[in-house]
Amino acid sequence: PVVTRFAPSPTGYLHIGGGRTALFNWLYARGRGGKFLLRIEDTDRERSTPEATAAILRGLKWLGLDWDGDVVSQFERRDRHAEVAHEMLARGTAYKCFSTKEEIEAFRAEAEARGSYALFQSPWRDADPATYPDRPYAIRMKAPRTGETVIDDQVQGQVIIKNETLDDMIVLRSDGTPTYMLAVVVDDHDMGVTHVIRGDDHLVNAARQQMIYDAMGWDVPVWAHIPLIHGPDGKKLSKRHGALGVEEYQVMGYPAAGMRNYLTRLGWGHGDAEFFTSEQAMEWFDLKGIGRAPARLDFKKLENLCGQHIAASDDAALLHELEAFLTAANLPALSEAQRALMLKGMPSLKERAKTFPELLEKARYITVSRPVPRDEAAEKALDTVSRGILKLLTPRLQTASWTKENLEAILTGAAAEHGMGFGKLAAPLRAALAGRTVSPSVYDMMLVIGQDETIARLEDAAA
Ligand code: GLU
Repeated sequence: PVVTRFAPSPTGYLHIGGGRTALFNWLYARGRGGKFLLRIEDTDRERSTPEATAAILRGLKWLGLDWDGDVVSQFERRDRHAEVAHEMLARGTAYKCFSTKEEIEAFRAEAEARGSYALFQSPWRDADPATYPDRPYAIRMKAPRTGETVIDDQVQGQVIIKNETLDDMIVLRSDGTPTYMLAVVVDDHDMGVTHVIRGDDHLVNAARQQMIYDAMGWDVPVWAHIPLIHGPDGKKLSKRHGALGVEEYQVMGYPAAGMRNYLTRLGWGHGDAEFFTSEQAMEWFDLKGIGRAPARLDFKKLENLCGQHIAASDDAALLHELEAFLTAANLPALSEAQRALMLKGMPSLKERAKTFPELLEKARYITVSRPVPRDEAAEKALDTVSRGILKLLTPRLQTASWTKENLEAILTGAAAEHGMGFGKLAAPLRAALAGRTVSPSVYDMMLVIGQDETIARLEDAAA
């Protein structure tokens, strides 16, 4: 069975690159009946914070990426890491190194003076235990000095690293703490991880990690190192390209399904499919479809996909997500009455809205209260003639039974009486109902807010 994992370091918010890495791992596992695990790599005690962990979990939850089992803390597994370092000693694939910091620095200085960059070669690699001094030691991996390490990467192809370029890395420091390289391998092994899908900034680490797997006689996972995300200009992604944190996209009002769809397409493709559901993505996602070139952010595409997902959403689910957006963006919550109207109006509201702020703008006729504040264009649309027509309309609306057919008959009838098309009459009606000249259709608004409210707003506008 497939086991993937996301292993963020909790030093800040969930970056969109991290969100995409998590998503790829989630899709790969979910599409294969496997497990998706979450491990917080919090061994760096100075840089790791509980706030960052909380932010990462919030970001994952918003994206809808659920993980199996408990969140694993790497720091809490430090005893196990030390145990494995000692196992490596016992297997003869690691050794105790008693070199002091000063000795190592002196070695490097000498190499530099000779004009050559030399990897530190510990004199303890093959030392006789009888010669061991009584002082602290680090445990170093006895890395092969010759030959090559071949990383069989599902995205990058075969990556060959000459072993002579890698030193005998420390796996356990003299203070007994594990190094990152050891911790990752031990955790991935113990957690049963079968596929390591992560950013290609970890490709060189993979060679070192593979040496540790070999040293322990453990199965090496399938590697897939994905290219990083670049800005629209093809340059390395940075703040100047726009929002980088996953949560920022939530606050800007993008729906999670749209964001998921977009991030899935960022560096992965399935024929010419652009819009798809998470179920389809799970079914289609594979490592072969991951591109070798860095993907570029494309905000137009994000908006386009988000619009399609909003339109395709179930009304009640969309309302629920809209309310979560209001909370996240610190906007006033909906009243019970507004909720009910929103649900009623949702079929028309969700058409052509790419974000929740756009949807809210369309829903303005629901969230305003009388007297409806009007913008300049709305004010202009309510000229004397228009006000006169509104005045004439209200008694007819009072006696009408409230169906679309009746409203159509009344409104087109009134327009015709005044020798104008309905389009001309729509502007003052929109101005009266929504305070804007751009809004959902007049009929939709009237049907949603109902007879009494409609008449009251028309009377306000005609006055
Ligand atoms: N903690 C590493 C990072 O945040 C990821 C390590 C890994 O995926 O192996 O970059």
